[in-house]
Amino acid sequence: MLMTKLLKMPHSPHQLETGRIGFPGRRRRLGTIWLWVTVSLLVCGLSIPAESFSVSHSNGIEVQTTPGPVINGHTVLLEVNTRNMIAPIVGILAWHGEKAIPVYPHPLKGPGIFIGFIGISYYQKPDRGNVKLEWTNRSGYHFLLIPIEITQGRFKKEKLRVPKSKVSPSKADRRRITDERYKIKNIYKTPHHARLWNTAFAMPATGKVTSPFGSQRVLNGKLKSYHSGVDFRASTGTPIYAANDGIVRFASNLFYSGNHLIIDHGLGLFTGYSHLSEFRVESGQMVHKGQEIGLAGSTGRSNGPHLHWGAKVNGISVDPLQLTELIEAVFSPAETDRVTESE
Ligand SMILES: [Zn+2]
Repeated sequence: MLMTKLLKMPHSPHQLETGRIGFPGRRRRLGTIWLWVTVSLLVCGLSIPAESFSVSHSNGIEVQTTPGPVINGHTVLLEVNTRNMIAPIVGILAWHGEKAIPVYPHPLKGPGIFIGFIGISYYQKPDRGNVKLEWTNRSGYHFLLIPIEITQGRFKKEKLRVPKSKVSPSKADRRRITDERYKIKNIYKTPHHARLWNTAFAMPATGKVTSPFGSQRVLNGKLKSYHSGVDFRASTGTPIYAANDGIVRFASNLFYSGNHLIIDHGLGLFTGYSHLSEFRVESGQMVHKGQEIGLAGSTGRSNGPHLHWGAKVNGISVDPLQLTELIEAVFSPAETDRVTESE
């Protein structure tokens, strides 16, 4: 609804303003080094190239992207500060290409600060692109292009042996796989309309990570796919926990993922739990962070008991560990200090 409202807004004739040129990009250390690019609005509705930002505080909107640059398969946190704007925002939304990115109030910082998450596809080639931020206020429709730089992640090759039927599925199995993909895709297309999480995300298992996100999977000697989640060491029967509050949208068996569970955390954020031996919750149920949702196992395409944990951001598979780190920063005191400094 918000999207439709924004798109229908006429282009305001008085959105072009002038100002000086500047580039307030800077590096900061927040656990790992993140580049915080601060873009302050000067020319509303004008493209801002990656190396040359136009800056003015006259209109008061400030956008930060973390991290910058970002690798394929990672998530960018967009933080929008509108506290210095004279006219309050009525509607706000971002676009990454054709993909609408929900932008919503920051869970901690109170009025005027908004956040959004941009998932960068694993298949995305290195690029300097833009995220388009759109908003409406009493003077009409405005937009700002925020540059983001995408670089190539370094991912290892992993050789695994799995049952032959799971590498070259039969015709009947291929039909099953297609049906399952359609069903799952529809879940990701219809996220819950509100943010259901109020704290940082937690690890779903206590075991150590045995395989990272993004490694190239060579199954029985053939390069089949990339690893779309992270694997945790977990013997059959080990309790698996919800990473955060949400609604269970799927708890059933899939050809590749085995007993698979999907939690919808709202506004495009999902986590998935694969190869479970048992479910402890069912589809439609509300769950809380840390709640036992199932038991680890080796169902589906798996070479032994473990937990495969995945995350989706607006339909894009992303590294759940990097996403967790990003959300942790949203709640960390250092992050709050940083914003105070930049104001
Ligand atoms: Zn896995």
